[in-house]
Amino acid sequence: MKIQEADAKSLLVAQGLPVPAWEVARTAEEARLAAERILGGGADAVVVKAQVLVGGRGKAGGVKLAANASEAEATAARILGMDIKGITVRKVLVSGAADIVKEFYLGAVLDRAVGRILLMGSAEGGVEIEQVAAERPEAIVRIHAHPHLGLLDWQARQMAFALGLGPHLKAAVAIAKGLVATMLAYDADLVEINPLAIVRTTRDGGESLSLQCLDAKITLDDSALARHPGLEELRDLDEEDPADRAARAEDMSFIKLDGTIGCMVNGAGLAMTTMDLVKRAGGEPANFLDIGGGARADKVAAAMGLILADPKVEAILVNIFGGITRGDEVARGLIEARAQQVRDVPMVVRIVGTNAEEAGRLLTEARFQTAASLDEAAVKAVAAARIASGRA
Ligand code: GDP
Ligand code: MN
Repeated sequence: MKIQEADAKSLLVAQGLPVPAWEVARTAEEARLAAERILGGGADAVVVKAQVLVGGRGKAGGVKLAANASEAEATAARILGMDIKGITVRKVLVSGAADIVKEFYLGAVLDRAVGRILLMGSAEGGVEIEQVAAERPEAIVRIHAHPHLGLLDWQARQMAFALGLGPHLKAAVAIAKGLVATMLAYDADLVEINPLAIVRTTRDGGESLSLQCLDAKITLDDSALARHPGLEELRDLDEEDPADRAARAEDMSFIKLDGTIGCMVNGAGLAMTTMDLVKRAGGEPANFLDIGGGARADKVAAAMGLILADPKVEAILVNIFGGITRGDEVARGLIEARAQQVRDVPMVVRIVGTNAEEAGRLLTEARFQTAASLDEAAVKAVAAARIASGRA
């Protein structure tokens, strides 16, 4: 689950990382009031930032500086409603504008290959890190954290020196360690600060430099959300795909893919196998869908709705292994779902296990195309899709 910059910043602050104060506004008026408060607190200018769950907002015109409150209002009015990479901006973050001396990248990801958290840093911050990784991989410093102890002091110092942050050693070490601590505290898959910046502050004629997290991106592990009361509330329903929401409400795992064969399966392993066989039969799966164990008729109907909502689907392959899930229940669900179906899509059904005979009888009566083996089901579904799309 991706969370918005403002929420990510809250999590960083909770772990003690330095983040300039901010407010979130949903209207231009709210942005003006927020700017008034922030400017009143001593800031020389504010930055107004689109809150959308995509990167590169700056390049897309979603990050702008404003010199005073009325300018902040006008800027917010321009950014709110803006389309950034297909997402409509519904809120902005207003923060004191930082006087940036230099930008860095600092991010942590879960390195599944070695089962450790990988901390990555680069003195070439601000720009897209993927671009740096592709063009100048040597410009990225990589350090694996200790699996139990997190990032050790000497590792954090190593990172700080490698980035040229020696003059800010204490702050840099605290931030590097805090980043890894944030990963561990919330079971995050990714915590990224880009830019981490050296910021100049002028007060009473004197100048001081500090390190500040000016942007924050956090992705949380969905499977671990149950361990962290409160994090679920950070899900941004404004940006959730309707299909994802429906699947979550029904407690099903649904992942949309690019192919034309819709797959309805119970069990994650069986779903993977089904997708493999669709590919072997020359087709491309349109989705991964695990309807879970004990799925009853109404859940089957809901799953069918999810699959058919994808206009690319040309045929559906249903592969159910009856255990706790009763085959006849699934068959009834399919018959019910087809009766409500807005779109006529060929369907091939294979049901084995608990109450398979009863299921077979119901499906034959309802004139469904059935298959005895999974291979046969995949071949039939791919052929049906070809005919449906006129490619036969
Ligand atoms: P992103 O484009 O979605 O990654 O959004 P960022 O928050 O990283 O902002 C993009 C760029 O805008 C940064 O790399 C900075 O160069 C600039 N920027 C962001 N906040 C400030 C700020 O407070 N002051 C100044 N001067 N520039 C900022
Ligand atoms: Mn950024």
